[in-house]
Amino acid sequence: MENELRKDYFLDRRVIIAVGRGKRPSDFKRDPAPEEDGKTCFFCPGNEEMTPAEISRVEEDGHWVIRVFPNKYPAVTTEEEEGSDELMPAYGYHEIVVENPAHSKSVSDLSIERISHVLSVYNERVEHMLSDPRVRYALVFKNHGRKAGASLSHTHTQIISTPVVPRLVKEEAEAVERYKTLNGSCPLCDAWKKEVGGPRKVWEDYHMAVFTPYASRSPMEAWIVPKRHVHDLGDLSDEERHSMASAFKLLLEKLRDGLNDPPYNLYFHVNPRGADLHLHVELLPRLSNWAGFELGSEIIINTMAPEDAAEFYRPE
Ligand SMILES: [Zn+2]
Ligand SMILES: [Zn+2]
Ligand SMILES: [Zn+2]
Repeated sequence: MENELRKDYFLDRRVIIAVGRGKRPSDFKRDPAPEEDGKTCFFCPGNEEMTPAEISRVEEDGHWVIRVFPNKYPAVTTEEEEGSDELMPAYGYHEIVVENPAHSKSVSDLSIERISHVLSVYNERVEHMLSDPRVRYALVFKNHGRKAGASLSHTHTQIISTPVVPRLVKEEAEAVERYKTLNGSCPLCDAWKKEVGGPRKVWEDYHMAVFTPYASRSPMEAWIVPKRHVHDLGDLSDEERHSMASAFKLLLEKLRDGLNDPPYNLYFHVNPRGADLHLHVELLPRLSNWAGFELGSEIIINTMAPEDAAEFYRPE
């Protein structure tokens, strides 16, 4: 196999799959994470008063199992300052969802039922943010591990709303319209149907498709796509949400057990208002560094073929 220049399913985004370097999934196995330094964790039970005022919680047997509160150091805020008419304020909501009380458990350790419950909590918060007319988008994302930007090791997800639609999401929504005009169909509906029949398939059930995208930007990139053309987490039925939770569990367990739990980022691309973007989740393990070429050209060199990554993730 030779190095290939590949284009994304619908974006004008290119990657070079540099298989000439001959990397295998096992080459990305990392050393076990270093021991914790024993600092007080704000997200642990008993330290609730150290976080900003709680927004909501889910309880089981009298204890919280999922907890939502504002970020202590928000990137955006709904508090207005006087006399800044000319500036576009970084207006919005920045919230934290702690998915489980146990300090050293991560999402891969949770039951499918709990992950499914977490997904509905994300959706509640997104809907709440979008009910504010000044909010144009809400991004749900997770940074796992220090190299992926997590400043606290206790697992959590963040949601940041913005007063603009982020460029990447806008480009996706616009590319969908172009694709529809040309082909009369949705690019993500087409992509999952093609991928579940080929070498990049990871897993599927009746409701959900998981595959490593043709133009993967990083080794082990994976996407979760509902088979039904839905826009938001709120459109998912209970069964579909359960399927999506199963997909999360599969991917994150494989990373934990096969590669010693590497850092990763994941995010949800929900539909911006008035558009027709098919809901999807993008998972990007941080197993490579984007440097001068990537920054200067926005062409990414990926040293592992997604076909090999799919084999790594596939359940036995
Ligand atoms: Zn903790
Ligand atoms: Zn679709
Ligand atoms: Zn996307």
